Amino acid sequence: MKVLIVHAHPDPASFNAALKDTAVATLRAQGHEVQVSDLYAMGFKAVPDAEDFTDTRRDPERLQIDVEQEHQYETGTHPPDVAAEQAKVEWCDLLILQFPIWWFSMPAVLKGWVERVMSRGFAYRRGRKHAKGVFLGRRAMICCTTGTSAATYAPDGIEGDIQHLLWPVNNGVFHYLGFTPLPPFVAFAPRQATDEDRRELLDAYAHRLRRIEDVEPLYFHPREDYGPDQRLLPGVEARSGFQRSPRAPHRPAAPAEEHSDERGPEKKIEKKIRADVDSAASAATS
Ligand SMILES: Cc1cc2nc3c(=O)[nH]c(=O)nc-3n(C[C@H](O)[C@H](O)[C@H](O)COP(=O)(O)OP(=O)(O)OC[C@H]3O[C@@H](n4cnc5c(N)ncnc54)[C@H](O)[C@@H]3O)c2cc1C
Repeated sequence: MKVLIVHAHPDPASFNAALKDTAVATLRAQGHEVQVSDLYAMGFKAVPDAEDFTDTRRDPERLQIDVEQEHQYETGTHPPDVAAEQAKVEWCDLLILQFPIWWFSMPAVLKGWVERVMSRGFAYRRGRKHAKGVFLGRRAMICCTTGTSAATYAPDGIEGDIQHLLWPVNNGVFHYLGFTPLPPFVAFAPRQATDEDRRELLDAYAHRLRRIEDVEPLYFHPREDYGPDQRLLPGVEARSGFQRSPRAPHRPAAPAEEHSDERGPEKKIEKKIRADVDSAASAATS
């Protein structure tokens, strides 16, 4: 198997770097090929901006990043650093994102890697997402660390469910692009841990990687669970991430905004835009 690890930590002596090194050693010992993109060491440019689109522009007046990315894909004019990362993504069977949780998300440089590398045209395009995603057949996994304990990230913990925290990456990046997301490996609070605990965390990660080919993926609802409006069909209980089932039999409490009548004008335009998007989406998927 070919594995790409995208590593986002500024300190080579960090616990994240130790997790990355554990992965490289363990996977290679199992006979897998591994490439690492160490974003801080590479000085990877973290923001998509006009500099990325100096060769040719579809529209010299407006900078619509996704429009220009698609143009670059069609004309083969991606910037060299982006093209090099895209070649690695195309090469891999398994993508691992290695990062510390920063502000409930990934570090900016990794977010920027996703924004620049997983570009429109290359990684997603009209009618090519989820079950028809570009990277169908490949798998992807998060390995991350936190500042606070597992208890704080329990479903009833003060920080909220870690699975929900990671849903934007698992669903919004991996699943959207067609990857099969594997359950994340989370090393909780390594800074507070003892040396022995940290060794055990690294051992547990090595253990996970040794059986990586047998790991059961995360659950995502199949396309048949959704109606033409791309909402879960009434009666289908939401089982993944942020989703809930307002139309299922056991209706959970609605958020306050659904009861507010001060949002009349907003609701009207939301409804109109939603109708426009729905008709564009069904045109794209048909
Ligand atoms: C901007 C920012 C925002 C943040 N936001 C959040 C947030 O929203 N939620 C949250 O939970 N946390 C947050 N944090 C905290 C952050 O998630 C943790 O500090 C981080 O995940 C810890 O991982 P690390 O690799 O940086 O640990 P390090 O501090 O690098 O390492 C922890 C310990 O492991 C030791 N170590 C290194 N290598 C090895 C090895 N091979 N074997 C054994 N021990 C080793 C180190 O020496 C150190 O003692 C934030 C931090 C920052 C800077």
